[in-house]
Amino acid sequence: MSLPATVSVREVGPRDGFQNEPEVIPTAQKVELIDALARTGVKRLEVTSFVRPDVIGQLADAAEVLERIDVPGDVAVGVLVPNKRGLDAALEHRTKIDEINVFLSASETHNQKNVNRSIKESLAGLVVVLGRAREEGLRCEAVISTAFGCPYEGRVSPKSVLHLAQSLHFAGAQEIGFGDTTGMANPRQVREFFTAMRQHLKSPANGVQLTAHFHNTRGQGLANVLAALEAGVDSFESSFGELGGCPVPPGATGNIATEDLVSMLEEMGIETGIDLDALLACARRIQEILGRKLGSHTLVAGPVEWG
Ligand code: ZN
Repeated sequence: MSLPATVSVREVGPRDGFQNEPEVIPTAQKVELIDALARTGVKRLEVTSFVRPDVIGQLADAAEVLERIDVPGDVAVGVLVPNKRGLDAALEHRTKIDEINVFLSASETHNQKNVNRSIKESLAGLVVVLGRAREEGLRCEAVISTAFGCPYEGRVSPKSVLHLAQSLHFAGAQEIGFGDTTGMANPRQVREFFTAMRQHLKSPANGVQLTAHFHNTRGQGLANVLAALEAGVDSFESSFGELGGCPVPPGATGNIATEDLVSMLEEMGIETGIDLDALLACARRIQEILGRKLGSHTLVAGPVEWG
């Protein structure tokens, strides 16, 4: 078993986290946190999303956040774009953006409840969005939600996930993220899943990057990370403070905490390039802003001290 020597971590807290917490965080504090996160050594940051402000009030200040943040040039700024209208809005700030994310669900019911479209309709829309974004020189990632299981439909066929991934890659996505949106995945499943995905998608000829996006809904997030590492995955998405959640099931936690992920990887001798103390300062700050305890373990225990 050989594990990767370095791992890429994409911080999604300012989008996935802020969007799914009940509070609306003031713009000035979002900007402060994004600027601080951009100085922890993390090289990719998802900062906001161009969604309808009447649907997701938490991110209604997307344009203002983008214009006000001060991110070093070697840190890629990403935004989530749900559709063509979102892309148009994002492109008004083209000079502030390096990459976009698009998404759809692997299960019909989840996609319908999430974006009110069939998977086929979503895919047709994303083909246009990805084509246009690539023309604009933006790096493109497509995330497939409920890739490991759906809270409404149960098991999701890896074959159908593979077909979606191939279609999205063909449409211009340079990276495919696989989301365990409601924390249904287990390590055995994850190891088999990524072994198969790598076989079909990661040949040197197409070179698509495969990324794992785990939620800690049932406390299995880091176990799933280890299984993905063992299957050769070297790119992960996570959220500082374990911010975020998901409407299904109600009250569930969100993404794995970036500081827990970084602590585990660095203790295993796998480099992330992220300064854990600087990252913990960001997690402490958002905990202070929200005024309640967050789910991150390393935030409570601190880094491992070997004396
Ligand atoms: Zn997530």
